Amino acid sequence: MNIKMDPRLSEGAVDFIDDHYLENLLVPKTVDPGRVRAIISKSMSKEPLCQEETAVLLQVEDPGLIEEIFEAARELKRRVYGNRIVLFAPLYIGNECINDCRYCAFRRSNPDAIRRTLSMEELRAQLEALENKGHKRLILVFGEHPRYDATFMAECVKTAYSFKIGHGEIRRVNINAAPLDHEGYRTMKAVGIGTYQIFQETYHHKTYSQVHPDHTRKGNYLWRLDGLSRAFEAGCDDMGIGALFGLYDWRFEVLGLVTHARHLQDRYGVGPHTISFPRLRPAQGVGKEWPYEVSDHDFKRLVAILRLSVPYTGMILTARENPELRREVMGFGCSQIDAGSRVELGGYTEAGDAQVMEREQFSLGDIRSLDTVMRELLEDGYIPSFCTACYRLGRTGEHFMEFAIPGFIQNFCTPNALTTLTEYLVDYASPETADAGAKAVEHELAKLPETPQKKELLARLHRIRETEDRDLYF
Ligand code: SAM
Ligand code: SF4
Repeated sequence: MNIKMDPRLSEGAVDFIDDHYLENLLVPKTVDPGRVRAIISKSMSKEPLCQEETAVLLQVEDPGLIEEIFEAARELKRRVYGNRIVLFAPLYIGNECINDCRYCAFRRSNPDAIRRTLSMEELRAQLEALENKGHKRLILVFGEHPRYDATFMAECVKTAYSFKIGHGEIRRVNINAAPLDHEGYRTMKAVGIGTYQIFQETYHHKTYSQVHPDHTRKGNYLWRLDGLSRAFEAGCDDMGIGALFGLYDWRFEVLGLVTHARHLQDRYGVGPHTISFPRLRPAQGVGKEWPYEVSDHDFKRLVAILRLSVPYTGMILTARENPELRREVMGFGCSQIDAGSRVELGGYTEAGDAQVMEREQFSLGDIRSLDTVMRELLEDGYIPSFCTACYRLGRTGEHFMEFAIPGFIQNFCTPNALTTLTEYLVDYASPETADAGAKAVEHELAKLPETPQKKELLARLHRIRETEDRDLYF
């Protein structure tokens, strides 16, 4: 279908998801282990996989072969991205919503949701709490409502960038909100947003219309699918896609994500910056009648297969998942996680340690503090990073560069991870985390060759420890 139904859609907007084609790829077939291994080795040689190849990996049921897929994803992660994990926090600005998504506690037909939109004063209070914990990267989250137009969202972004306390500052603001028109994206671009995330939720048309009633704005599948194409045309080339796993067959959603990534790459020469794969969580007033619930084992499979299929894309694992599973899945190539997260409005100052069902969108599986998550990451051999350098230096496509440019990680990513980690250790860490962090930094430094670059890094780390100088990125 290549008809332009709405003049506000992107140039040549097209519904590029062909359910029939994707379903056909998933019709059970005998899996040839030789073919599976050939596909894995294509991915290991840094080539993205097409839908047909991805479908072969999705069909694998043999435990031994599944383990080979897991191991390949781990190896790709180790070899290509190393041991860095970027940390961020979600910040919910408002839960007014005109939509009626069946799975979400913010849906308009939920009479028990306590509706609230943070005032700029309340937003500053949340920012203060987040900065005092050491966060540098945020994702602002909005329901879909006329109140939350691009002008309002841009105001929130400006407030986040300008609010500073002590050494605390927000250096990157990403957005998760409804799709906009071109003008709206231009407004967002002008205030310096990072990634604009829109999750298609489900790529399967029939399921999409079952969970997003027709008469709602979100009921328009193509408006949403085309959302990031409009963003690109309006100058926002940093885009995040995602699917809410549990609404339909997880294998179909993986193919939908791969198709979407390829569409953006083919049409604009830029693939998505990130892929998110949230799993459906319990939410207020949302029943348990979801026949496509994804088991932990299948969740691991989908993450590993996505890693192999879209090797240049960052992968985001959220605190919807519990700590044990997060720990395991991180090894498959997730490059970003949130930590110390609250998904209630005002949750960083008001909710304490408990989760408050009436005020949150869904319940979290991991509500540990940032400091606790940092310590665990360090003890597990990861280097937690708050790096924002590429985005601020206009180095877009950083995952591609990490992947494709020899020495990029050693010259930029590792040094920036170590400077931002050291800032955290000096300014915010508990004594135990500071101790674990100091050992990790030493260990990482020992691996770097003795170059002028390393000398400069050591000098910068010294400045961070001994002076008030911060934000010394490469
Ligand atoms: N309102 C905007 C929208 O729908 O695109 C953006 C924000 S929405 C609050 C963020 C995401 O949360 C949704 O895209 C959806 O994938 C996810 N979400 C909604 N309900 C959920 C649930 N019960 N469990 C897990 N994730 C959920
Ligand atoms: Fe509203 Fe987004 Fe929740 Fe749907 S998922 S009800 S659009 S907040």
